[in-house]
Amino acid sequence: MTDSLIKGFKNFKKHYYERDRSTIMSLVKDGQKPKTLVIACSDSRVDPAILFQAKPGEIFAIRNVANLVPEYNPDGGLHGVSSAIEYAVRDLKVENIIILGHAHCGGISALCKTFTEDKNKIETEETKREFIGNWVNIAAKVKNNINLNDKNESLQHIVEKESIKNSIKNLYTFPWVLKSIKDKKLNIFGWWFDLENGEILSYDDKDDKFLNISKKDD
Ligand SMILES: [Zn+2]
Repeated sequence: MTDSLIKGFKNFKKHYYERDRSTIMSLVKDGQKPKTLVIACSDSRVDPAILFQAKPGEIFAIRNVANLVPEYNPDGGLHGVSSAIEYAVRDLKVENIIILGHAHCGGISALCKTFTEDKNKIETEETKREFIGNWVNIAAKVKNNINLNDKNESLQHIVEKESIKNSIKNLYTFPWVLKSIKDKKLNIFGWWFDLENGEILSYDDKDDKFLNISKKDD
């Protein structure tokens, strides 16, 4: 079952370790210096390194259910996402943070269900989840910004995009993120990957719209 992964690794080794030895050795000797932090979903279809054809050392990635950023909360809890953001911004001094959302996100689908489902519905052992509900609730407040009866776009896509905007807002609550933005050392982007059409839409805060940035051929 893992044969294809081992085959893939051998191919990777051939390309990066045998053909490009100097790049690997400088990553070992000088450490990593990625310019971009990508916060992506754990979904197997949206691996940022594959989507952006990135090389080792190019992208610092955080992946979690529904590509969410919690609010700044230094309460001594186990904050995996916040600690990775802290390392990327304060130690690696990345220049860009991209929140990479995507269409057909299972985590966002779980959140949408809480907006529309009957609150009295009884959960069974089979349907009950112990962690996902609390986690996706990070984006629960987007419910206030949406029209549940909007027929122009599916609720799922609307919430996926609103949740990206919410994660951007939450990033601003980290004081050292805010400082780096004010010092013009850090840029924040909200991107949404349209899985079936193979396009990326970027959030434009001036017009409060997601615009296609992958149409133009370079
Ligand atoms: Zn997802």
